[in-house]
Amino acid sequence: MDNIYIVRCGETALKGDNKPYFERMLVQRIKKVLESEEGVCVERTDGLIFVRAPQSADQELIVRRASRVFGVDSISPAREIDISGMTAEDALSAVGAAAVEVMLGLIKERGVKTFKVEAKRADKTFPVQSPQIARQMGAFILKGCRVLKVDVHEPDVQLYVNVRRNKAYIYERKIHGFGGLPLGTNGRGLVLLSGGIDSPVAAFMMAHRGMVLDAVHFHSYPYTSERAWEKVKDLAGLLAVYCGKLRIFSVNLLPVQEQIVQNCPEEETTILVRRFMMRIAERIAKEQGCMMLITGEDLGQVASQTAEALVVTDAAVSLPVMRPLIGMDKVDIMEKAKEIGTYETSIQPYEDCCTVFLPKHPSTKPKLEKILMSESLLDCEALTEAAAASAEVTVIQPRSDI
Ligand code: ATP
Ligand code: MG
Repeated sequence: MDNIYIVRCGETALKGDNKPYFERMLVQRIKKVLESEEGVCVERTDGLIFVRAPQSADQELIVRRASRVFGVDSISPAREIDISGMTAEDALSAVGAAAVEVMLGLIKERGVKTFKVEAKRADKTFPVQSPQIARQMGAFILKGCRVLKVDVHEPDVQLYVNVRRNKAYIYERKIHGFGGLPLGTNGRGLVLLSGGIDSPVAAFMMAHRGMVLDAVHFHSYPYTSERAWEKVKDLAGLLAVYCGKLRIFSVNLLPVQEQIVQNCPEEETTILVRRFMMRIAERIAKEQGCMMLITGEDLGQVASQTAEALVVTDAAVSLPVMRPLIGMDKVDIMEKAKEIGTYETSIQPYEDCCTVFLPKHPSTKPKLEKILMSESLLDCEALTEAAAASAEVTVIQPRSDI
């Protein structure tokens, strides 16, 4: 007998006429994250998605991977009972017997003492109503498991019984997913991925709304180390668990930085570097069919993220720049990084290209006219072109051990 998992769709279920499309994309994603497991089958019936896997498959792995698919609200390992062709009475006896078995198992495993049954009749042609189903199940369990008592307020186990057409399901765990929308339902974007705390969270948040991602990373080798690059790849591997395999375009920014430092006022270095990052990213984005740029910027966090600096940064490009963290507090961003599992890697202390040639007093309220004057001393077009052309692509697969 196969193990069964019921997967509930969150927002996908609210999509009206587009619902079948979103559900199809969700099924595809779940299949993808479980493709390494032999004999797994994913199908959708009546608004739910069912995953079936042979007994030999790793149950925790299936739950963990499926619960991280965007669009999944929750997942429950369930017991399936075939009630096709049965009278209501026979069907409820069969479900009752299975419920007793499940509860006996839980008494043994966890020393469960109290329970409550919640029943739902998804098949409205089934002649017994939900409250009666719950009562009958309760009676079966009390009779079959003498040590158990009902507690409707704080039960050790809440047992769900779901009667559907031809099949009934029993489950007691609901493992929550991240919700959101299935990957691939909302275009493609290019995230500027540093080794910091913020940009992986920003990437996660856009992917969470269904956007497929590519990444660009800037380094200043040999001023930044090989180890700093390893850290970025580690972060990408963690992100790929949610976003699918990730292509990183890595670009050496040093030639651009040297030109800026040699020709432009020191206090403008940061903003000038940022405008180049945007230009180079935009060029790569356009080549790769990405429709927007994504950064981990957060209003007021550092000198380069004042409102004035963000306006001047945006003026360098025509593609929209998404900043999903813009209104968040740093502590909340850190919490989110912990929740998605990138925090510990992000805080490893390796240098970033932004910290090379850091001005002593960066200008916090840059004026676009002044910045344009400074840039007129550089061949921006040629520098951007050369940097984008030198990008090296690395494909990062999702970490398989988490
Ligand atoms: P993070 O924690 O994401 O590094 P931060 O708070 O350190 O952000 P900055 O270093 O000013 O802020 O960077 C702002 C944003 O610019 C980052 O979130 C990221 O999107 C982008 N960025 C910064 N450095 C790099 C880099 N080396 N490669 C690619 N993008 C970068
Ligand atoms: Mg940074």
